[in-house]
Amino acid sequence: MFLAALIIAPKLQVEPKLNQIIALSKSDNQVMNHLRELCYGIGPRVTGSPQLTKAENWALAKFKSFGYANAHLEKWADIPVGFSRGPNNSARMLEPFQSEVKFSSNCWMPGTNGPLKGHVVFAPNTLAEFNKVKSKLNGAWVLAGAPVTMRGAQSTSEDAAVRKAIEAAGINGFVYGAKDDHLHAHGTWKDKDFTKRPTTRELTIRREDWDRLARNVNFGRKTVAEFSMDHIWHKGPVAVHNVVAELKGTEKPDEVIVIGGHLDSWDAPGSQGASDNGTGSSSTLEAARLLMKSGLKPKRTIRFILWGGEEQGLLGSTEYVRQHESELSKVSACVVDDGGSNYENGCSGIAAWQPFFQPAFDAMTAAFPDMPMTFRPVEKYNASGGSDQASFNAKGIPAFFMGKAGTQKYGHIWHTQYDRYEEVVPTYLRQVSTSMAVTAFTLASADTMLPRQK
Ligand SMILES: [Zn+2]
Repeated sequence: MFLAALIIAPKLQVEPKLNQIIALSKSDNQVMNHLRELCYGIGPRVTGSPQLTKAENWALAKFKSFGYANAHLEKWADIPVGFSRGPNNSARMLEPFQSEVKFSSNCWMPGTNGPLKGHVVFAPNTLAEFNKVKSKLNGAWVLAGAPVTMRGAQSTSEDAAVRKAIEAAGINGFVYGAKDDHLHAHGTWKDKDFTKRPTTRELTIRREDWDRLARNVNFGRKTVAEFSMDHIWHKGPVAVHNVVAELKGTEKPDEVIVIGGHLDSWDAPGSQGASDNGTGSSSTLEAARLLMKSGLKPKRTIRFILWGGEEQGLLGSTEYVRQHESELSKVSACVVDDGGSNYENGCSGIAAWQPFFQPAFDAMTAAFPDMPMTFRPVEKYNASGGSDQASFNAKGIPAFFMGKAGTQKYGHIWHTQYDRYEEVVPTYLRQVSTSMAVTAFTLASADTMLPRQK
């Protein structure tokens, strides 16, 4: 009875307010508008690119337009050299017949300065093979064998000396084959600056395109391909920021609920960084808008954060917790949305946290019965890895990655050329943005902060 009273009492107090937020969202939800502006107005947002800077300022202006006078940027690093793709990124086979080729390349990779034509040859695997074909390598696109992973191209020459010899022979670049039609982008500014750049082009094409080129070379036909890659290097330092806005708590303003996701993305040609993580970013903005518009006052402060550098290893959130070390004991919880375009179906955690989430999940499930949310108790909770919640979890803060369910195949989109606005399901995203507002308000209204896991 005592336990039941503990669970039910806060729920009854907060429930009408949660329903108020939900009603507001159902009558006026703007999340798809935010996402469209982000995807079509700005596009993909590699950390250190002008597009991410643009997105930081766009999100800041959004928070301000919702009434968050305290919205601001917090610098977390200077990137030594920025990178972005220009408008011309195309590829085709020209001989023995014309055929379109889809490709991607890693960021911070040399581009082509316009269309670069060349005959296609197979990469030699040994020095003996190299010596036989070396006269054919100058100006060639070199087909390298092994499929690449989503972390980028991997050298197939087991012998570094062979690779070095191939590079020195004046090739146009290495052409790897993806394992299927999915093309990924990855890469880092590490060990590079505006003048210190890699010199060898490496790119990845769809498996079917690679097989077509290889088949024609194998048949002994003259095979010619053309790649055009506008790779723009931006002179550093490029300052990168987390975007922060707060709805101040009325009773315990120094206790904080952090809610958000990362604003940066990858940029495989075609991608808009829509599901990773335009969805979490737009939902964070919409949750902030709904809460402000509702006029409801949370007991604790709700802090909305859009981090940068997530894709390079949770860099923005890692630096955030370092910069805010002295106030972390007052962060009750951190909730991150970075799971793509499906609806939020709850989260897991130790049983002691369940009463904190349950009023939110009950209200959401009642309002969106075909998108049920549950709390999934576990013996020992570990939120490491994955996304920015891990940076908070590492400091002992209860930090959550919201689970996702639905019909969207996230694996098809994730870090690929298919990560586009059109792949996002509006019904789901309206639920996500509502859930973020409702969950944050519920945690901020609890009698106490979430207990730390022992
Ligand atoms: Zn992500």
